[in-house]
Amino acid sequence: MLKFLNQVGEYAKETVQAAKYIGQGLAVTFDHMRRRPVTVQYPYEKLIPSERFRGRIHFEFDKCISCEVCVRVCPINLPVVDWEFNKETKKKQLKHYSIDFGVCIFCGNCVEYCPTNCLSMTEEYELAAYERHELNYDNVALGRLPYKVSDDPMVTPLREFAYLPKGAMDPHEVSSGDRRAGLRPEEIIEK
Ligand code: SF4
Ligand code: SF4
Repeated sequence: MLKFLNQVGEYAKETVQAAKYIGQGLAVTFDHMRRRPVTVQYPYEKLIPSERFRGRIHFEFDKCISCEVCVRVCPINLPVVDWEFNKETKKKQLKHYSIDFGVCIFCGNCVEYCPTNCLSMTEEYELAAYERHELNYDNVALGRLPYKVSDDPMVTPLREFAYLPKGAMDPHEVSSGDRRAGLRPEEIIEK
């Protein structure tokens, strides 16, 4: 009799535990029903990168003075600045400039310290290539301006979830003119 009662007690305990675990699982499910959808139908939809996004570097050949500061501040001495001394002008003359994005860690040091601001980080992040040497961009490739997500007629641009207007849950429902949550960098500076 005692053994039977013990078994019933064990069974009841396990039933309560099972109910508790089912409740925990359902709590997670119901919690997700209130959250924002995180799926973006790439490549038909793309998130608009934030203003501080550090994507592929843009280079302006005519502004470069071949000072090599970018090489010295780079943690891996990556930019290749090929110059020769012009005896007539008594100045360095830039011949080629390249950055290998297969090695670059996109830290932005070179952009930060360039004295003539000829380097800038763009919002371009689609750098996939079949051959890693294709990621070694010369000054011509670096001089190309990126195609903005918001200007691409083939793509539906979506705001990053952090930038949705207050109370908006789904970026698909937000029109481009709606004010985003938080201040823009220029507004912060103004403030
Ligand atoms: S720091 Fe700027 S100006 Fe100097 S070599 Fe690099 S890219 Fe050119
Ligand atoms: S972003 Fe960083 S790693 Fe890449 S070239 Fe500039 S300094 Fe070097």
